[in-house]
Amino acid sequence: MDDLRVTRRGSLLRLGGFLAAALGVGGLRLSDRAEGAGPEGVASGQVSCVLAPEQTEGPYYIDGQKLRRDITEGRPGVPLLLRLRVVDASTCKPIKGAAVDIWHADALGVYSGSGSGNRTFMRGIQKTDATGLARSRSVWPGWYRGRTVHIHVKVHVGGNVVHTGQLYFPDPVTDAVFRRKPYSRRRRRTTRNANDFVFAQGGKRSLLGIRKSGSAYVASITMGVHRS
Ligand code: FE
Repeated sequence: MDDLRVTRRGSLLRLGGFLAAALGVGGLRLSDRAEGAGPEGVASGQVSCVLAPEQTEGPYYIDGQKLRRDITEGRPGVPLLLRLRVVDASTCKPIKGAAVDIWHADALGVYSGSGSGNRTFMRGIQKTDATGLARSRSVWPGWYRGRTVHIHVKVHVGGNVVHTGQLYFPDPVTDAVFRRKPYSRRRRRTTRNANDFVFAQGGKRSLLGIRKSGSAYVASITMGVHRS
């Protein structure tokens, strides 16, 4: 137990439960907030926080985007509410005031700025609150040639980029979403998580947790980063 490491993106809450079971500590109480379970474990030397995998930013990053929650600019798609949490990978404590900078293709698989014209749709920045949480509103991204469905992310802390990654979706849920308009107007996608060359480099640890909320989906993940 001395060298227990979290080797996959699992919730710290689940890890807490696992620890409690493994240690036989029946009375161990853990906060129901994921970040609440972390520091206790770190302090006891039994947990090292999960570092989000670095992945290529790709060719479509445009810096200097707007600070805004809704990044759709009215473009169609299945509503997606993003709950992206930033924690310090060495302490598991939330990082307040981090700028979470996201960009992705629209429902038809097109990036703003990839042609002439609009350079801002499906792009935007939100600052994390005291619990490390940044909330954005978008639509489920469409696919484009050669890639599985993904969202790009950069995390800035104190003006420095501390993380560049990509976030992924469970394929069965994407399949369900893509049966709806406007996604269903396109041909079937060719690349899924299992045959995506970027996903292969740690993508499993960047899979968003998905739950349904009315007609929208809520997508959540905790990203462990180093502050500098
Ligand atoms: Fe991309």
